[in-house]
Amino acid sequence: MMNLIKASEIRWLLWALVVLVLLAAVVNVPFAITKIRSRSTPWPVQHEQLDGPEATAKGWPISTPHDRVWAEPESWSRWSAFGYEEFHVSSSNPESGANGFGMEVQRLGWPLAVVEIRQMWWDWGDPALEGPEPDPRPQLVPTGLVFNPLMVGGSLWLVLCVLPMAARVMRRVVRGRSGRCVWCGFEVEDLEVCPECGVGRVAE
Ligand SMILES: [Zn+2]
Repeated sequence: MMNLIKASEIRWLLWALVVLVLLAAVVNVPFAITKIRSRSTPWPVQHEQLDGPEATAKGWPISTPHDRVWAEPESWSRWSAFGYEEFHVSSSNPESGANGFGMEVQRLGWPLAVVEIRQMWWDWGDPALEGPEPDPRPQLVPTGLVFNPLMVGGSLWLVLCVLPMAARVMRRVVRGRSGRCVWCGFEVEDLEVCPECGVGRVAE
């Protein structure tokens, strides 16, 4: 197999992979930012609303900010569209009976979220729930930062570069089996070097 692909073609494939992953990395965060929902953005059509035990089963969409576990969600809402996901989740506080827990989270990016905007509410007066309020400004998500470029760039590379190269190599296999030069298709029979293109059977 290795004598059917040139070293220059392997170098080209590697460079193409690097370039495509870098391109995907460049558009990753800007694309996610275009998905941030402002007050004027209409809500996506795709909406899921769960209450009671179904909401409890879903749990909080991201980790809660305190050591003490928040009461399980009683209401769970999710809006979604391409590259966009928003959760509104809340529960009452069974201990104080007042001021339940709530969070609104936007998760943006594709295929994984790379920008996250979180707002949370709880009983500010409860000493067991002290601690700073999570920063509501957009935050970068490390997993999306790393894996989105690899997944998007890698998929493009497979389709745009690896598949066409595999087709070329397959054509060379067929030529070699039918006694022709694998590089140009000229009839070479048992000659070691092709008289048409001057290349040996093994790539230089
Ligand atoms: Zn040839």
